[in-house]
Amino acid sequence: MSKVYFIDARKRNGVPIAEKLEILLEKVGVESGSNLKGNIALKMHMGERNNETFIKPFYVKKIAEIVKKQGGDPFVTDTTTLYKFDRYHAMDYYRTAFEHGFLPSYLGCPVIIADGLKDDGVEVSETVEIARSIYESDGMVVVSHATGHGSASFGGAIKNVAMGCVTKKSKIYQHKVTKPVYDGELCTQCDACIEECKFGAIETKENGDRELIKENCVGCGCCIDAGETGALHLQEGAGEKLQLRIAEVANTVMRNLPYSNYFFINFLIDITPFCDCEGLAPKYICPDIGILSSKDAVAIDQATIDLIGRHSFEGDPAIQVREAHRLGLGELEYEIRKV
Ligand code: SF4
Ligand code: SF4
Repeated sequence: MSKVYFIDARKRNGVPIAEKLEILLEKVGVESGSNLKGNIALKMHMGERNNETFIKPFYVKKIAEIVKKQGGDPFVTDTTTLYKFDRYHAMDYYRTAFEHGFLPSYLGCPVIIADGLKDDGVEVSETVEIARSIYESDGMVVVSHATGHGSASFGGAIKNVAMGCVTKKSKIYQHKVTKPVYDGELCTQCDACIEECKFGAIETKENGDRELIKENCVGCGCCIDAGETGALHLQEGAGEKLQLRIAEVANTVMRNLPYSNYFFINFLIDITPFCDCEGLAPKYICPDIGILSSKDAVAIDQATIDLIGRHSFEGDPAIQVREAHRLGLGELEYEIRKV
């Protein structure tokens, strides 16, 4: 049974959360034998432009300070996105991150977009390329914002590793199962999808129908919400398939990193129905709960889902967790230890 440490945001007894964070990280670090020496990647999602619910730099600065106290040299990191918005190129991501307050001068450590200027990674399997700066670091603290997710139902530690630690090639592999399908009867020919698709993957046929050019489509899903009638939609079972791929890739990443020096922190704060790739979150799915930390990605995600409540999610959020467990990435059973 894995241990999951927990700061309850609802019962802090007058102790600032940053102070508790230090105790939390010491406990999980000591217990897991993690040695935070060398270059330590703080794997984050620094929020898409207009997103307001990403994990705030205040917490990340604290985590960086704790890593430094333990003798490590941390850097804050993430990879560029599959969809073309303000984190698609590294330079855009730097600008967005800085605007969100992830400034090296404030954090006290560098910010490095791990796949560099040209989608730079280390191939560890036929389908998985780990972003170079993450592969070449000496350890990793995976800092995840627990949220719902439009197609994967839930995003936590496993998804942060699977989608966030790899190059575009491996993101495309995961999203291959979320290429939309088209229903001409529902199409009002408004062309919103054509405007939204930055990959030239939707064309107009002679009869006026829209057509998906499968070889151009990367499965980013941006066109699905563009129309109002659901004419472009996910195929039946696509969300489940995506979760299975997420677990598969997370497992491949964790097994092929040249170190086992890592642990996980999940923030159950500002819990939105969609991930931080979305702009403004429409609502929260539950009130703030707190912060979890564990050596075990499966246990921390299972505990996160249990604390939020699985019925707060669209679909079954735990498919990825069970699959990651089946692949041997961690334990479904856990014991919560309050800090
Ligand atoms: S067709 Fe839709 S899912 Fe495919 S690349 Fe274009 S926007 Fe993304
Ligand atoms: S957004 Fe939907 S309704 Fe509009 S053209 Fe595209 S498929 Fe048709």
